[in-house]
Amino acid sequence: MARYTGATCRLCRREGMKLNLKGDRCFTDKCAFSRRGYAPGQHGQSKKKMSNYGLQLREKQKAKRIYGILESQFRRYYDKADKLRGITGENLLKLLEVRLDNVVYRLGYGNSRQEARQLVTHGHFLVDGKKVDIPSYSLTANQVVSACPKSRATEKFKVFAENPKTLPNWLTANLEKFEGTVVSIPTREDIDVPVNETLIVELYSK
Ligand code: SF4
Repeated sequence: MARYTGATCRLCRREGMKLNLKGDRCFTDKCAFSRRGYAPGQHGQSKKKMSNYGLQLREKQKAKRIYGILESQFRRYYDKADKLRGITGENLLKLLEVRLDNVVYRLGYGNSRQEARQLVTHGHFLVDGKKVDIPSYSLTANQVVSACPKSRATEKFKVFAENPKTLPNWLTANLEKFEGTVVSIPTREDIDVPVNETLIVELYSK
């Protein structure tokens, strides 16, 4: 599946906020947004009032950039969310959260979603004991994600296991076994991404 390969920090500057796309670097003074907290390009520093459409578009772009998804795939997630029961915007965020690369990131493997995605594509993870190298693989409740036995022995994975992350309510982890379980599908309250999903629904439902 295609992915964005341009300058990452440019995306934060475009969205006017830190999206923490580069892991540890985002918390150092090397962060491009901390140094130049305005939009890239010639008119980046000009102050213009944003239209409703602009606000909706920016919100959609922000969500795509946080989860590292391009337009066509994001649109498919929206269409799927729209067909599900419940609130479309919340369904959309839930579908994005249960992607394998995001779950791997939430479990603490990878300093960013980008790194987690790479770990998945390189075949470091099993889902319920079977190798899965598709970042968009959609997990359901009670599925177990674990690191491959070979990967567990690497220094990188040992460092991940020694530095556990705070887990969201819907995940549990067993660091000794290098595995994590999706206890339930997350609710909107469990998802801490700074996105107003209502604006995305307004944009797509025009
Ligand atoms: Fe965004 Fe991180 Fe780059 Fe800062 S270092 S601009 S938070 S990606």
